[in-house]
Amino acid sequence: MNADASTAVRPAAIELVSLSKRYGDAKPAVDGINLRIASGSYCCLLGPSGCGKSTTLRMIAGHESVSSGDVLLENRNITDLPAAARGTAMMFQSFALFPHLSALDNVAFSLKMKGVAKAERHARAQELLARVAMGALAQRKPAELSGGQQQRVALARALITQPKALLLDEPLSALDPFLRIQMRAELRRWQQELGLTFIHVTHSQEEAMALADTMVVMNHGVIEQQGSPHEIYNRPVNEFVARFMGGHNVIETPAGKVGVRTDQTLIARAGAPEIAGLPGMPALVTDVEYQGTYVLLGLRKPGASQAVVSTAEFSVMLSEARFAATPFAVGDEVQLAWTPESAHPLQS
Ligand code: ADP
Ligand code: MG
Repeated sequence: MNADASTAVRPAAIELVSLSKRYGDAKPAVDGINLRIASGSYCCLLGPSGCGKSTTLRMIAGHESVSSGDVLLENRNITDLPAAARGTAMMFQSFALFPHLSALDNVAFSLKMKGVAKAERHARAQELLARVAMGALAQRKPAELSGGQQQRVALARALITQPKALLLDEPLSALDPFLRIQMRAELRRWQQELGLTFIHVTHSQEEAMALADTMVVMNHGVIEQQGSPHEIYNRPVNEFVARFMGGHNVIETPAGKVGVRTDQTLIARAGAPEIAGLPGMPALVTDVEYQGTYVLLGLRKPGASQAVVSTAEFSVMLSEARFAATPFAVGDEVQLAWTPESAHPLQS
């Protein structure tokens, strides 16, 4: 990326120190979180609805006051600064564009508010639109643009203030699934080209894994785990993270609960030699789903509530070839097993 002097910004590290937000007497929406986000990295705040992601982002942006704690940007305490003075910018969803303004005027809008002369603000807006491959469509109104094109205008509009960190709250949730995956790849590419710090809120673990350098898994206003997608997927610290991330069985053992990846959970007929000597448990196959490259088996403990068709408690992912070699059917009594290396203790 040709970062000329007019547009080059240094990305900032962001630090949250014992940050809390309380609304009235309710349980805190954000409860004393500590987090350091590396400069120039892509950070995803991930968690179920209501866990405090948006509140955290809004406190970083300055759109929400903090109840206690601090927000630091490059070691500068910005906790009490107004949003416009922080060096952060929020990318709003594409449907928040002004419908009556052209793409160019949408992007130039905040410069107009600052009193920047028309020629200069249009030149800067045009340059940013060109950067997101929208230069030729600068005169179009939002309704004349596709969803993906509107998303790029929304990005250019956020970048015009030359933020050091870009904050995105569920930026892809309004898009259809195909476009969501396409725009996800574009966001990642833009982040790398611009070299900015991105903080992206999502409730989708798939989206976070695809995008993040650092994932921060939240629940009930606290951080359950932070780390790279690889670390979190392979070493969920507790049952909540293992279940929220998916792809794991949570299994009670005499030594406590362990997590075993569904693709590393072994399945065989009872007494089969390949699982001899391994820790395991009996199970009953409750469903068999063909997924193309793999087959997903649903299972539960045998004997429990026979009368009701209970939902699967465990899953095993088998390659198509492995399933074809030894198929299993609904109702089969089987043995689940795992190697000691594939079982990770989960904190309670
Ligand atoms: P998320 O973005 O993770 O879905 P939020 O940060 O929006 O969650 O909300 C966290 C909690 O704070 C929720 O319980 C929500 O109801 C509450 N909350 C959010 N904003 C307000 C508000 N303005 N007034 C009162 N409660 C709020
Ligand atoms: Mg939210």
